[in-house]
Amino acid sequence: MAQQFDFVILGSGLGGLQCGYILADFGFSVCILEKNHQLGGCLQVFAREKTVFDTGVHYIGGLDHGQDLYRYFSYFGLMDGVKWKRLDSEGFDRITFSGDPQTYHHDQGWDAFVQRLTAHFPSEKDAIAQYRDTIEQVAANFPMDRLEYSDTDHLDPGLLYLSASEFINGLTGNERLRDVLAGSSLLHAATAERCPLFVHALTTNGYMHGAWRCVDGGSQIAKVLAKGVHGRGGIIHRRTEVTHLRTDGGRITSAVCADGREFSARNFISNIHPKNTFDLLPPGVRKGPYFKRITSLPNSLSSFSAHIVCRPGSFPFLNHNHYHHRSSNVFAQPDYKVEDWPLIMMLSTPASSRTGEFADGMTLLSYMRSSEVALWADTHNTIVQPGYRGEDYEEFKRDRTERLIAAAEEIFPDIRSCIQSVHCTTPLTFRDYIGTDDGSMYGLEKDFRSPLRTFIPPHTKVSNLYLTGQNINLHGMAGVTISSVLTCSSFVGRKELIGRIRSQSNETR
Ligand SMILES: Cc1cc2nc3c(=O)[nH]c(=O)nc-3n(C[C@H](O)[C@H](O)[C@H](O)COP(=O)(O)OP(=O)(O)OC[C@H]3O[C@@H](n4cnc5c(N)ncnc54)[C@H](O)[C@@H]3O)c2cc1C
Repeated sequence: MAQQFDFVILGSGLGGLQCGYILADFGFSVCILEKNHQLGGCLQVFAREKTVFDTGVHYIGGLDHGQDLYRYFSYFGLMDGVKWKRLDSEGFDRITFSGDPQTYHHDQGWDAFVQRLTAHFPSEKDAIAQYRDTIEQVAANFPMDRLEYSDTDHLDPGLLYLSASEFINGLTGNERLRDVLAGSSLLHAATAERCPLFVHALTTNGYMHGAWRCVDGGSQIAKVLAKGVHGRGGIIHRRTEVTHLRTDGGRITSAVCADGREFSARNFISNIHPKNTFDLLPPGVRKGPYFKRITSLPNSLSSFSAHIVCRPGSFPFLNHNHYHHRSSNVFAQPDYKVEDWPLIMMLSTPASSRTGEFADGMTLLSYMRSSEVALWADTHNTIVQPGYRGEDYEEFKRDRTERLIAAAEEIFPDIRSCIQSVHCTTPLTFRDYIGTDDGSMYGLEKDFRSPLRTFIPPHTKVSNLYLTGQNINLHGMAGVTISSVLTCSSFVGRKELIGRIRSQSNETR
């Protein structure tokens, strides 16, 4: 008879691997099924001409010694197992605008942040201080983010109903300062009409407490976690796509895979987008208002990246990120006119072990609507299932790359001469590699007007099916880590889990 696991986990993104690690650490038998060859979901990297590019993690906040994510990551062995590089203290994020020669710096540490922006905007000292105070207050509303035990996820649910843009607009009439405060809003991909203040606050506050990037790529995070899962007796199958979930009497009995194999378990945790998870259930099981509500929630925008291999010794390695805006609305604008694209561009240079004064490569990133690539929606292309999308798709990528480079030239006029080769990712790349419908960057979009609708609980209407990953709590390395803890708390107890993480990260408060 086939082995029955305590847990089968669908998908090996950060959330799937962390859940596997925790549950194996508590002595459960765990089996993770991943459709790709490379583990990690958005942590996957690719290399061109010996230059490694991240696809979905460029920098991570809260990683200074003793800070919140540092303590979580210590438990997972990530602080010792991954090579890290701290971004510049002064100006880890740099914000520019078309037609404005000034570069505005976000410095690490709240005092430095306030001081720097006050130097840029001397008459706005009070507004900037008020910004810091409120962001800290809102971030403190989430005990789990501070690795503190509480049986409630939010201390003051009222704070969930605040809008990021209304808050920032209410601080000051100075439009440039407003744009600078929200200048890295690509980090949450939400529109001004919907972005909750807590999403902005948790992201910003994290980076204030240590902004770091992985040297040689974020895939190291997946490798360290996978090693931890294996070391605790867990099993991981790559190239194993789950095509449906078999049920009996309202419970899942097994995950059935594309190659015909079946994996049985007492419980199933899905790291796949909730909608795509529910699509795996028999139609009769996924009926009713719960499934209808969750599958109708909108996703955040998708993205387009141009990953550029630099000519040797041509472009400086930047130990910071650059956000360049070509519109006065720095939040996401899903209804952008194609001819105006890109309205925002982020430029970052990945760090490798051999990086010195010059960059090996750089990534230019912007939002993109999935409808821009609808023409090629019937095509598929991954390492496991290779395909060619056609010459017109290649032409589309060349056109969008050219526009991103033109935007980058506004801040780095000589950038074109530094390019050796360009390799793109589009919404279809993310759709095919991550398994979402539209290649959305951060999954379900949070909305301050109905915040509780977009907090999806880990348990579902199927008694032994649980969810984890960026759609449960929040996207990003910190958001997903909290999701993993929330999901696993259902089995090992929140207090016990928080206690173990705190004790194994050698930190007490
Ligand atoms: C362009 C971009 C830039 C980003 N930059 C940053 C950043 O700088 N900092 C930061 O903190 N965060 C960043 N993020 C967000 C962050 O990467 C994600 O929030 C996080 O990695 C999502 O993790 P997850 O656990 O939800 O799983 P995902 O990464 O979504 O992985 C899901 C996994 O499930 C697998 N899967 C899907 N369907 C099946 C199936 N049927 N069978 C088996 N396996 C399946 C997929 O292959 C994948 O491995 C970025 C994201 C994007 C897209």
